[in-house]
Amino acid sequence: MLQSKLFYKANKNKSAEADSVSHDLLTRAGYIDQLMAGVYTFLPLGFLVLKNIESIIRKNMEVIGGQEILMPVLHSKEIWQKTGRWDALNDILFKMKGNGEKEYVLAPTHEESLIPSAKKIIFSYRDLPFYVFHIQLKFRDELRTKSGILRTKEFIMKDLYSFHANQADLDKYYEVAAKAYEKIFKESGIGKITYRTLASGGSFSKYSDEFQMATEIGEDVIYICKKCGIAINKEIKAENPICPKCQGAEFEEKKAVEVGNIFKLGTKFSAPFNLKFTDKDAVDKSVIMGCYGIGLGRLMGAIVEASHDDKGIIWPKSVAPFLVHLIQVENNIKVAKACQKVYQDLQKENIKVLYDDRQKSPGEKFAESDLIGIPYRVVVSERTLKINSVEMKERSKSKIQLIKVKQILNFLKP
Ligand SMILES: [Zn+2]
Repeated sequence: MLQSKLFYKANKNKSAEADSVSHDLLTRAGYIDQLMAGVYTFLPLGFLVLKNIESIIRKNMEVIGGQEILMPVLHSKEIWQKTGRWDALNDILFKMKGNGEKEYVLAPTHEESLIPSAKKIIFSYRDLPFYVFHIQLKFRDELRTKSGILRTKEFIMKDLYSFHANQADLDKYYEVAAKAYEKIFKESGIGKITYRTLASGGSFSKYSDEFQMATEIGEDVIYICKKCGIAINKEIKAENPICPKCQGAEFEEKKAVEVGNIFKLGTKFSAPFNLKFTDKDAVDKSVIMGCYGIGLGRLMGAIVEASHDDKGIIWPKSVAPFLVHLIQVENNIKVAKACQKVYQDLQKENIKVLYDDRQKSPGEKFAESDLIGIPYRVVVSERTLKINSVEMKERSKSKIQLIKVKQILNFLKP
C-alpha cells in the first residue's frame, strides 16, 4: 500500500476527548473514526487489524469444531419475548418499530435467533453435540460508552454456541473452549497478562469464566490468589473471601478489562423454546447449551492498551496492519527507484508493506511511523544506498541496524 493513497490522516496532537491511551492512539494514527458516542468507523488501517484478529479467532474456533454461520442482526419482538429478555434487557435493547405496528430488536446477542434454527435440525441424541459460531455486529445501548472501542454501542463479536445431550459433555467441551480462548489471547500478544477469571455462573452452573486482561485503564478488578495463582472476580471475592480452589486468603489485586467470557447456559434458553431431543433411553430431554464470546474491537483496543509507548502503538506481528513500514527519506530518482524495488520484492514474497512515498520531512515520517506502530521500519536513503544497505529498526526495540538490501528478506523471514 502506498501511504500517499491511504485513506487516513494522522494527528500528532493528543486528542482532548480521548479517555484512554487506545482511544487516543487509534484515533490519532488513523485506525478508527468516531461517528458519534460509542459508534466508530474502522478506517483501512483499523480494518486490517480487525481482519487479522478475526482470522486468529476463526482459526481457533474451527480447530475446536466450530462451524461458521451468519445470523441476522434484525430480530422480531416475539423471539425476545419468548425468553423474557424483551423486558429483562430493556435498558440496553435497541427496540424499533417498522412500518405499521410490528416491533423489532437490533440483536445484542444471538441465542434467540439461533435456537429456532436448531429446533429444525436437532431431533435425536445422534444430532448432538454440535458447535456453531458467527462473527457479526451486535447492538447494546450502553449509557457508559467510553474508552474508545473498549465499550461501544455497536460492536463486532464472535460468539460460539455449543449444544449437548448432557452436562458432562458440556463440561468437557467448556474446558476445550477455555483452552482455545487462551490460545487466541496468546496469539494476539496479550497472553501473559490475560487471566482466566472465575465469575459467578448464574443459575445453571456455580461458575462462569471471564478472560480479564490486566491494565490500569480497566473498569473491573480481579484478585489473583498468591498461593495457587487462579484469578477470581469481585463478585466471587465478595461472596467468599477465601480462594475457592486452595482456600488461600491472600490475593494480588489488579485492574482489568474483560476481553472474553464463557458461560454454561444449561437449559436457560433451550427450555423456553422447547428445544428437545430424544435420548438413547427414548426419553425427550432439553438440550444443554454453552456460549462463548469475544468482542473484536474490544480486543483490538486492549492490545493497544497493553502494547504502546509514549510515541505510539507497538503492534504484535500477528495483528499488525502491515509487517513492514518502508520509508523513503529523499525524493531523488535513485532513492525512489531503490524503494520501489524493495517494495515490489517484499510484495512478491507476500510480505505486507506500507510504503511511505510522500513528500514529507524524515522527522515527520519517523514520528508518524512510530505512531502507527508497524513492527519493522525499513529506511532507504542516499547514505544507506552508498553501501547497498537499508536501515532496519524494530518498533519494539531502540536499536537501528544497517543491513544489506539483499538481506532484507532473510531478516524478515524467521
Ligand atoms: Zn488459591
